[in-house]
Amino acid sequence: MVAVAAGTLLSPLFISLPSYFTVIGSINTLLVFLVYLFIRSNRYPAYELAALFFIALISIIPLIAVSGGVNSQFAYLLPLYPIMATLFGSKTQSIIIGISLFIAIIACTAFGQFFTDITGEVYNHKKSVSRGFWLAITILVSMYFGLFFQNRYRELTEKLEQLALHDPLTELLNRRGFNLQLEANIAIAKRQQSIMTLLLIDIDYFKKVNDVSGHDIGDICLKHVARCLKQNIRQTDILARFGGEEFILLLPETTEVAALPLAEKLKQSISELVIPSLNSPLTVTIGMASTAIPHTHIDGIIKAADKALYRGKANGRNRVEITSAIPS
Ligand code: GH3
Ligand code: MG
Ligand code: MG
Repeated sequence: MVAVAAGTLLSPLFISLPSYFTVIGSINTLLVFLVYLFIRSNRYPAYELAALFFIALISIIPLIAVSGGVNSQFAYLLPLYPIMATLFGSKTQSIIIGISLFIAIIACTAFGQFFTDITGEVYNHKKSVSRGFWLAITILVSMYFGLFFQNRYRELTEKLEQLALHDPLTELLNRRGFNLQLEANIAIAKRQQSIMTLLLIDIDYFKKVNDVSGHDIGDICLKHVARCLKQNIRQTDILARFGGEEFILLLPETTEVAALPLAEKLKQSISELVIPSLNSPLTVTIGMASTAIPHTHIDGIIKAADKALYRGKANGRNRVEITSAIPS
C-alpha cells in the first residue's frame, strides 16, 4: 500500500507521465487499502490469501500490460512478491508465486513487442531481453532468499524452544516444558474422561551427597537418575526435572493402581544405580496422585502429589506414598 501510494504521488514530481497512471495508481491504492482493512477485520481468514492474490493480479497486470511488459517500471515491484510470500505466508506460497512470476516474465520477454507502452518508450528487443533476463533471475533469488530465511527462522525457533523448555544438565523437560505438556494432557484426559497419575520423585538426602562427594558428583547423580527414569517409562509418559533434585512424571491414561508397580520399580532401579565415586546408594521418595475425577486443576494434582511426597519423607524416605481420588 505504501509503495503504490508513494509511487503514485511522487513519480509525477520527477517525470511527466500520462495522467492515466495517476488514476490507475489511485485506484490501486484504494483497492489495496480495502484489502488491508478486509484482512485487519479478521472476519474471513479463509479468504485472506485469495484477496491478496486478487489484488496482486489487479494492480500489477494492467499496469504492466499498458506500460511495456518487462520494460514497465512496475516490473521492479515483482521481485518483492516471492519474499513477501514467505515472510507473511509459507514456503509453498513463495514457490508458487516465484515460479508463476518466473514463467510470466519469460512469456512477457518473448512477446515483448506486443505490449502497449503508453509511456512512449520505443521497443528495443535487445534491451527488453536483457531486462527480462535480469528480472527473472532476481525473482528466483528473491524466492530462494525467502526460503532460506524461513529455514533459518524455523531452525532458530526450534533451538530457542529446546533451550526454553529443557533442562541443560539432564536434557529432560524443565518445569515450563512440563506445564505445557501437562495442560495438553489434562485437556485430552477431560475429553476422554480418562484417569492420569502424577509422580513427584525426590532424591533423599541429596544435600549430603553434595556435601560429602562434591557438587560435580551431585550433577552426575542427577544425570544418572534422569537416564534411569527415562529408560523405565513409556514414550507417552511425560518426564521432567521439576526443580533441584526433584523429578516429575505424568502417566496419561493410568490409574494409581496401575502406576504403583511402576513407582516401586523406579524406586528400586534408582537404588541399584552404580555411580562412580559415590559410596552409598541413592534412594528416592515418590509422592503419587491421580485424578479419579478428571476435572482437577493442574495445581491441584501437583499439590496432592507433593502432599504425598511430604508424607513419604516424614515416614522415613525411600518409599512410595499415594494421595487418592482428588476431588474436582
Ligand atoms: P530430603 O531427603 O528431605 O529431600 O533432603 P535433601 O537434602 O535431598 O533436600 P534439600 O532440599 O535439603 O536439598 C536439596 C539439595 O539439592 C540442595 C542442593 O544443593 C541440591 N541441588 C539442587 N540442584 C542441584 C544441581 O543442579 N546439582 C547439584 N549437584 N545439586 C543440586
Ligand atoms: Mg531431596
Ligand atoms: Mg527436594
